[in-house]
Amino acid sequence: MTIPSDPHHPCPCNSSLPYSECHQPVMEAPDEDRLAIGHQEYALRWKSRGFTG
Ligand SMILES: [Zn+2]
Repeated sequence: MTIPSDPHHPCPCNSSLPYSECHQPVMEAPDEDRLAIGHQEYALRWKSRGFTG
């Protein structure tokens, strides 16, 4: 996955969210925190979408 030079560009995961609101917190997290932060981010996203996406 290529990290955009501008965090406001769309995230390369095709979520249609800006990178800064999608994978940036996960990608920049320390290795030991990445899994927990990833779970948290996805949980929030699923919650906001009503578990449809
Ligand atoms: Zn993403």
